[in-house]
Amino acid sequence: MNQEKLLLIPGPTPVHPRILNSLSQPTVSHVSPILVDELKEALSNLKSIVFCQKGEPFIVAGAGTLAMEMALLNTVAKGERVLILSQGFFGQRMEKIAKSFGLDCDVLQGEDRKAVEPALLEDRISRNAYTAVAATHVDTATGICAPIRDYAGIVKGRGPFFIIDGVCATGGIEEKMDDWGVDIVLTAAQKCFGVPPGLAVLVVSERAIAKRKSMASIPAFYSDLLNWLPIMKDPSKYFSTPCVNEIRAFTEGTRIMLEEGMESRFARHARTAQTIRTELLDFGFSFVPEAPYLADTLSVVRYPEGVEDGIFRKTFAENGVIVAGGLGHLAGKVFRMGHMGNLSLSQIDFALAALKKTLASIGFSGKFGPEKGGGE
Ligand code: PMP
Repeated sequence: MNQEKLLLIPGPTPVHPRILNSLSQPTVSHVSPILVDELKEALSNLKSIVFCQKGEPFIVAGAGTLAMEMALLNTVAKGERVLILSQGFFGQRMEKIAKSFGLDCDVLQGEDRKAVEPALLEDRISRNAYTAVAATHVDTATGICAPIRDYAGIVKGRGPFFIIDGVCATGGIEEKMDDWGVDIVLTAAQKCFGVPPGLAVLVVSERAIAKRKSMASIPAFYSDLLNWLPIMKDPSKYFSTPCVNEIRAFTEGTRIMLEEGMESRFARHARTAQTIRTELLDFGFSFVPEAPYLADTLSVVRYPEGVEDGIFRKTFAENGVIVAGGLGHLAGKVFRMGHMGNLSLSQIDFALAALKKTLASIGFSGKFGPEKGGGE
């Protein structure tokens, strides 16, 4: 029997019934008025979500990694240099992508529990000529949230394009493209948008589009923004068949976001994160990032002495909640819990009750205070 569990991994996130419903609509022609209108609406909503008036939005079948590739290849030509601000695993992925295409790159890697210091960025770009600076906003492996607005302030006006990997942040933590002078926000459907995986999503400034137009060619075809631009301006045109149902689901996802209002959504993510963190600390857990770098979209949580990763996650799942294990050197030492997207208060309450039950049933008493009752 299919027993549905609450999916609190760092993406995909739980899918709201309204979004599931739009996924289940009949598959229409990709050039039908229905899809054309829905894609236009999604593109326009997307710009509102990242506070961008003039840039060009792109929604393409794929995932976050494709969006990363598109951002780099369309702004940085061979012989030019990109600076990558890495907060962990996905910053390293950006470096791998750059290297795969023979692009010159330098990497500033944040310390163990911290994001890259803005002062290091300032120093680096004042001494070197970079065509682009690309920063991960929230690294899903470490849970580190970067001071992205400070980075943007440093890069703005100095020449380089500023690219944000917002896969684990966009729509849950503020990213204000126009105000901050951001050139590309790249993201994907399956995290803060709360839509099933399947889309690479980008918003690109006019300045960055002009850069692509100035390059005679780039080492890409599907990833070439100039092949997609006419379709995004007029979705009744064809370049490559869009994933019709997924786009309709994404449109519905963006409606839900704008109905909630972006500022309220950011505030809700902050409140939810705070509630979850307070409970986890009370139970005796700690976090990988230092306090100023904690993300509102996911927590990467260190196990206290006596809690074993496999047993903990299996028992948590039996109690109805799926969380993810650690990546790379953190495997076995942490669990990763997503708290982004369209999570409801009752889902959060359920998750915290299941956590308490899990700790009690694996025999961990931890720091349960008397008011917590020591579990059940
Ligand atoms: N960047 C970040 C920050 C991510 O968290 C992820 C995925 N977890 C990616 C990029 C890659 O996205 P995808 O798995 O959709 O290719």
